[in-house]
Amino acid sequence: MTVTSNLWRVSSSVDISAPPLSAGGRFDLVIIGGGFTGLSAALEAARRGASVALLEAESFGFGGSGRNVGLVNAGLWLPPDQVVAKMGEAAGNRLMQELAAGPSKVWSIIERERIECEATPNGTLHLAHSASGLQNLKDRLAQGLARGWPLQLLGAEETGRRCGSTAFHGALFDPRAGTIQPLSYARGLAAAAIRAGARLHERTRVTRARHDGADWVVTADGYDLRSRSLLLATNAYFDGIDLGYRPAIVPVSYFQLATAPMPEQLRTEILAGGEGCWDTALVMSSFRTDRAGRMIIGAIGNLEGAGGTVHAAWARRKLAKVYPQLADLPFEHAWRGKIAMTGDHIPKIVAFGPNAYASFGYSGRGICPGTVFGTAIAAALLDATENGLPVRPVPVHRERAAALQGAYYETGAVLSHAVQHGPLL
Ligand SMILES: Cc1cc2nc3c(=O)[nH]c(=O)nc-3n(C[C@H](O)[C@H](O)[C@H](O)COP(=O)(O)OP(=O)(O)OC[C@H]3O[C@@H](n4cnc5c(N)ncnc54)[C@H](O)[C@@H]3O)c2cc1C
Repeated sequence: MTVTSNLWRVSSSVDISAPPLSAGGRFDLVIIGGGFTGLSAALEAARRGASVALLEAESFGFGGSGRNVGLVNAGLWLPPDQVVAKMGEAAGNRLMQELAAGPSKVWSIIERERIECEATPNGTLHLAHSASGLQNLKDRLAQGLARGWPLQLLGAEETGRRCGSTAFHGALFDPRAGTIQPLSYARGLAAAAIRAGARLHERTRVTRARHDGADWVVTADGYDLRSRSLLLATNAYFDGIDLGYRPAIVPVSYFQLATAPMPEQLRTEILAGGEGCWDTALVMSSFRTDRAGRMIIGAIGNLEGAGGTVHAAWARRKLAKVYPQLADLPFEHAWRGKIAMTGDHIPKIVAFGPNAYASFGYSGRGICPGTVFGTAIAAALLDATENGLPVRPVPVHRERAAALQGAYYETGAVLSHAVQHGPLL
């Protein structure tokens, strides 16, 4: 299967570009990477009146931010009790509290900055793919309700009515969440940051960053930018920076295919409420529609790798099983991206030098964490206090055998997708 085109690049209505770097300078904050994290930080810093420069090697949203599903989730992928078990009571609840408020933060930025990104704050459905999946959702419901989250467990009938599919045993509805056109959101953040006074540059690959005296010196295209503070916001797409540090992540591929727009009558039957969905299977799948009425199906797997044909054939079969009405609708777009997982699935902030942070490892949940972490890190660097950070920065984070762990996910996805001829897994 040829990975031909990313739907988000074709359908984005936000038109923005920024020139490559053409001069050196001095700033309060320099940011490397133009995804949700870096752009949110640039916007926050500029709104606070700081001088800020952001350098992006390709174009805004080139990384995970312009390739993702667009599910605006109110938390991590881990169930709440596991977050607490891994982080401890105080730190775990603190992080979950910050992320629970993530969607409202994202919706309010979209409204305040008038970002045209197909924002659909109509909730998400976590779909039970089996009886054991439904039990998993009941456990998540209990843990969420104990924390005061407004979750609702839907039975099979109501789930079927909302999804337009009889394939699921029930669903956990989260009314705080929703969907966006992710690349448009990233581009909208860039436009807002520029309006607020940030200096943004695309097609500007940072090749070196070093600490010199009290400053960071960031080098790109032969120019030096000096700054007291530095944010490394390259996440899974870190590329070629001579820094003596790189974020340790487990890279996991996720692919999506988008159909031609559904016929009008089916649009009133299938996800008519606009909810974004993913299921409880170990090798999970996602389903959502866009404003044009396309069905977008996604799953873990590398569409460009050796297992690409298996993944593409699986997507066709899976769609026909969940939505027999769409069995003959052609796929028009196919793309993939790299998720930055961490071994414990908890996002990290690493303080890799004086006044310097790297923020990464959102483990497939980066729209709200990218926005929340980026905003908080800009404030922390400018105010010189870590009190507002959603997680405690660590001096170092290591991943054991990261490439091997990534290969393990891919092998699991290929095997799972190859054998899914029978009942839905
Ligand atoms: C396929 C897929 C589906 C996903 N689905 C969802 C979802 O539905 N909901 C959700 O919340 N999250 C989802 N995620 C996760 C989310 O997209 C990411 O966590 C988020 O985009 C990370 O944002 P970021 O700004 O930290 O990094 P990125 O968006 O990856 O940005 C990093 C940037 O750094 C730049 N860069 C790298 N090296 C250099 C250099 N040397 N100089 C300058 N720039 C450099 C890159 O070009 C890139 O643009 C998904 C991710 C993927 C890949």
